[in-house]
Amino acid sequence: MRSSPSTTSNATPETPLAQLVPRAGAHLEGLEAAGVRTFEDLAWLLPLRAVPLPRVRPFRDIRPGDLFLGQGKVLHREIKPAFGRRTKGRFLLHNAYFVVQEESGSSTCALRFFNLYPNQRKAMEAWDRIWFLGTPQEWRGQVQLVNPKVYPLLDDVGPALGDWLVEYPTVNKVPGAYTHKIIASLPSAAWSQLGSAFGTDDTAGEKLSDAFRVMHARLPASEVTPERRRRAEERLAYEEFFVDQLKIATRRRFIKRKAAPYIAVDQQALEAFKRLLPFTLTADQDKAVTEILADMNTGHPMMRMVQGDVGCGKTVVAMLAALPVLKAGKQVVLMCPTETLARQHAATLAATFGILPFLRPALLLGSMKVKEKTPILKALADGSVNFVIGTHALFQDTVIFRDLALAIIDEQHKFGVQQRLDLTAKGAGTHCLIMSATPIPRTLALAQYGDLDFTTIKTLPGGRKGIKTRIVEKPNYPKYVDFLRQRLELGDQGYFVFPAIDESETLELQNVKDSFEKYRLVLAPHAVAMLHGKMKAEEKDAVIRDFTAGKIRVLISTTVIEVGINVPNAAFMAVYHPERFGLSSLHQLRGRVGRGDKPGFCFLVAGDLHPAALERLRILEETTDGFAVAEADLQNRGEGDLFGVDQSGSVVRRRVADHQKHAAVLEKVYRDVRELQQQHPEKFDPLLLRLARDQKILDTI
Ligand code: ADP
Ligand code: MG
Repeated sequence: MRSSPSTTSNATPETPLAQLVPRAGAHLEGLEAAGVRTFEDLAWLLPLRAVPLPRVRPFRDIRPGDLFLGQGKVLHREIKPAFGRRTKGRFLLHNAYFVVQEESGSSTCALRFFNLYPNQRKAMEAWDRIWFLGTPQEWRGQVQLVNPKVYPLLDDVGPALGDWLVEYPTVNKVPGAYTHKIIASLPSAAWSQLGSAFGTDDTAGEKLSDAFRVMHARLPASEVTPERRRRAEERLAYEEFFVDQLKIATRRRFIKRKAAPYIAVDQQALEAFKRLLPFTLTADQDKAVTEILADMNTGHPMMRMVQGDVGCGKTVVAMLAALPVLKAGKQVVLMCPTETLARQHAATLAATFGILPFLRPALLLGSMKVKEKTPILKALADGSVNFVIGTHALFQDTVIFRDLALAIIDEQHKFGVQQRLDLTAKGAGTHCLIMSATPIPRTLALAQYGDLDFTTIKTLPGGRKGIKTRIVEKPNYPKYVDFLRQRLELGDQGYFVFPAIDESETLELQNVKDSFEKYRLVLAPHAVAMLHGKMKAEEKDAVIRDFTAGKIRVLISTTVIEVGINVPNAAFMAVYHPERFGLSSLHQLRGRVGRGDKPGFCFLVAGDLHPAALERLRILEETTDGFAVAEADLQNRGEGDLFGVDQSGSVVRRRVADHQKHAAVLEKVYRDVRELQQQHPEKFDPLLLRLARDQKILDTI
């Protein structure tokens, strides 16, 4: 199908790709299959790079690393089969080596090509004079260009390159050159039609269509300053953030519209529950409980996250919130990332609130045998168990509640948004309480958790002596072991954490099993034991019990202790190969010590580390503020990692928006969307509808 020029210049963002492209074919189908179906989709398929093309220059100007455009005659040409590389068993690929000589002088330049296709090879065999464009690099003392772009030099007319070197990504086997060709063929007028589907040009203060033009290098290079490029990128980020915020608003509206059980708050009963605690709540804990109970008394589902540094006492807050729900005759589920933590919470619950007559708790763990699970499942379905604590096993379809009213998720960063929704879906209008010890920096909170209400617990319970962190480098190792011995003599307990359980063939890592054998001797007569995920549940239980009781003095472990384990007498921790952990994980780990009335010590046993790796760890020596650590972690790792959740919608769309790099843009979007929502509902509501029409977006809600 050949489209007339008028079709393309009348293009709207929704114009199907097939109407923009002169001929149907496999490449067109490839793009469509990857989700690039309309003009708008195509516009979001951004180039990997767009750099202004340099002028043709003499060979003496070649500098490694600087894009170079040159011309000359082929002085020497070697083309050999690239052995062992065939495509589909049919084509033989070739490697080539060219020496090109400048026509106006005797300077030469080396070009190397790898894995040429037969048609490329054939063409190149025939060319005597060429243009070439690429980034020179140094190799064994010689400067050469590897896989430069080459064009035949005919009649001294330059290649039709235009102003820019633009490269698009390969998408679903569709070469970037194809995408480039489509984009380059669109008439200038078509681009002005690329308005925002959400009418954001006014609030963003720039036209989306201009930003696309800049990003796709559809303007003369002389008009595009670096500043203009930066603004264009920010404009696209604005659009992406805007859609995110609409999704979040939709999710929130969708959930908040549901009805949820009213949980009446009986102040007297609440005070009585608090008196069962061996301590008084901190002011922040009290405030958290109040906010949660108020949320559960609105008739709509609560969606609240309680965040607070390790050891601030979130567990007790969650349990106090659960009790009124149980008292109202309804059920509660508490979801933990590890079995160890689930068991510990169950033990705390029983020890603290076991005497309450309406509490009928049970554990449900993945490691349980079917025979053990069946009666619990039955009890959940008929309501004879009203508080179930467990792990991922709780997500399963076989888990049915009689009347689930509150879902609590502990250590949220170990779970994804979808799991949170799955769990709450087990009740009608289930209240949802999320607990996170990984502090969520504001920008990330806005970007990903904007549908939640937040409570932050800032203060740690009184009497805490805090924690000191030290990096142990090789020369200090003997001093460090002496120190540990001293602490053990004084009656302290502690943890050693290793990144691996067993010896590994590929990595030279100190591991739990070998270290257990070693430190059993080194630290004798103090009792040493190990704990790791491959042990049987009963073995793990026994070890934790003995450690809690003080019979075991040093626990050699993997990060199974990272989440939530609570032994107040534990005063030191040593992490081996700290370079293998994220800063936030290390921060979580060290939160296991210094919980009682003794100061805690955390040693990052670094051995011989690269200075850059040491530098990264210094932040832990410098601060115990979880927010500062989380920010540093983000800087090191980029956003997706921190929560391990991939929330990207379609296959190809590479996000421009980065909540750190574009933090200011995100803040503005957040303000703009709120203002629209509150002051111009007549404009805002249609936007949500527009969003809901897009099936891709509905799926992720
Ligand atoms: P996290 O917030 O990391 O989940 P936990 O709930 O495990 O922290 O609490 C850590 C420790 O602090 C527990 O031993 C708990 O009993 C204790 N704790 C909680 N609240 C208080 C308080 N108000 N006063 C004293 N100790 C408290
Ligand atoms: Mg906890």
